[in-house]
Amino acid sequence: MGREALVGNGRTLRTWAVQRPGCPSTRNFIAPRPEPRSMLTPQAAPAPEHLTPHDLVTYFRCPYEMELNRARRSHAVDGALGPVRTPADVVPLRHSPLFNPPLGHVSVNEGRLDLGMGDRLVYEDDGEDDLPVLFPSERVKLDARFAPAPHTLIDRELGFAGRPDLVIERADGSFVPVEYKATHLFVGYHEAHGRTFDTVQAIAECRLVEVAFGRRPPHGVILYGDSAGGGAREGWVEIPYGDAEERWLRAALVQIRSDSVRPPVPAERNCAGCEPNAEGLCRYAAARYEGPHHRLPFFEAPRGG
Ligand code: SF4
Repeated sequence: MGREALVGNGRTLRTWAVQRPGCPSTRNFIAPRPEPRSMLTPQAAPAPEHLTPHDLVTYFRCPYEMELNRARRSHAVDGALGPVRTPADVVPLRHSPLFNPPLGHVSVNEGRLDLGMGDRLVYEDDGEDDLPVLFPSERVKLDARFAPAPHTLIDRELGFAGRPDLVIERADGSFVPVEYKATHLFVGYHEAHGRTFDTVQAIAECRLVEVAFGRRPPHGVILYGDSAGGGAREGWVEIPYGDAEERWLRAALVQIRSDSVRPPVPAERNCAGCEPNAEGLCRYAAARYEGPHHRLPFFEAPRGG
């Protein structure tokens, strides 16, 4: 049995009585308690908050929606809502605090996506069941490194991960992520494109493709299939990906992680397609939930940044 003893410097020592085999006497051995960890001992840095392209998109619309989604995910097993960092007395904002990505060279195109005879499909997210068939089977050459699908692309440096719908390898050897939207192409509401939040997703996916395939995509594509209109208003938007877009992405990830408020941005364009709103989790909602694809374009002037 051990006994506690207080010694001169105030430290508590534990003494142990040990009897050797064949020896009638016992000897006390003093086992000092481990020193408390010095304040100067280097501590491991906490892992950055894991984020996805979808988190970026959601934060860009409404930081509180992203925070509620995060809280829902953290208790996905028992269905309860995890802790939410947004304070109860938060003041709602008119716009998300995340500044716009570079939009100057975004191109908006009506009609079918341009595909060349030398292009082929090298990645497909099998988790999605409504993706369009863009290639005949002989031009589908899925990269074995990302099988079996669905295979999440991971960026360990920036601490985020996600799955584009498709990745096309162009005839010139470049890789292009494609994100499919069932809605129709929006044009005319905004100088660049009606759904700026889609360009956020394209930039994030370009970065993931660059890390996974080892080559920087020249651009990402958002493809609008207009499934409700039979393709009459289909089209695609091409979002360039270069140094400016990567800088924007890095700064956006830092901003999201350091935001301890994550305020709501109540607006019909946001709230009508917000899943936490469908579950009655938001008391700031400005509109009734209309469905998962009910995301309206921005009608206001573009935000600065
Ligand atoms: S309902 Fe509106 S304000 Fe509330 S979290 Fe959703 S988008 Fe944000």
